[in-house]
Amino acid sequence: MEGPGVRTIADRLLPLAGKRVTAVEGRSRFPLARIRGEPVERIYPVGKLLFLRFPACTLRVHFLMWGRYRLDGEIPGKVPKLTLSFDDGSVLRIYASAIALLGNDEAEQKYDPTLDPMEPAWDRERAIRLLQAKGREEIGDGVMDQEILPGVGNIIRNEALFAARVHPASPSGCIPAGVLSRLLEEVRDFSFTWYRYDSDGKRIQPALQIYRKKTCPECGGRVESGRTASLDRISFWCPACQEKHRCPAGTGRRPPR
Ligand SMILES: [Zn+2]
Repeated sequence: MEGPGVRTIADRLLPLAGKRVTAVEGRSRFPLARIRGEPVERIYPVGKLLFLRFPACTLRVHFLMWGRYRLDGEIPGKVPKLTLSFDDGSVLRIYASAIALLGNDEAEQKYDPTLDPMEPAWDRERAIRLLQAKGREEIGDGVMDQEILPGVGNIIRNEALFAARVHPASPSGCIPAGVLSRLLEEVRDFSFTWYRYDSDGKRIQPALQIYRKKTCPECGGRVESGRTASLDRISFWCPACQEKHRCPAGTGRRPPR
């Protein structure tokens, strides 16, 4: 699940804010019983992670690839990873996800909302600097680095690279800052497009331009696909429309593929 999906879940769970946990069920190496009796102070996303903050600790949920949730419902035949009952009678069930319990300070320091491109306080200049520091690493990998752009998954990165007309194999450190800035703008714009679709209960597929496409919507040429350098995720690009940036000669960098 990518950032926009987690943000939609956070919106839908907002009614739980202020409610007190009356029962906790789930198997975890973390002492989940600590949140029994505690009120939910805040529910918020950062990137692909959802946080439920309590007075003494913060519950972190990573929905991974196939994570799901139900509020006051169940998925037949599936055993929840975590079940929380609340004092108003509502029940939250979380499936196929990674659950962790963190100290509140740790959660706040490590998962800073200014890193999230969907936050108003997002620090885009920082993201540009971190991508530039990646040198010859491919931008297709860099844009999915959760330390730089939390919330960006395979669909967002493919769509943003296409919208910014940047080839995924371009070396991150040799893309002009203005182009990186535009790429980040596209990351944010596509994230919000997806979020609007999700919030309306619609699938994102009709909005996709390049992901799993055969033909480029811009030039009509054939879309290419392949694994990126270090991440085992598939990229889609138009070789005619997306520029493969190169490092200047003499930088000692390996030429991009
Ligand atoms: Zn094209």
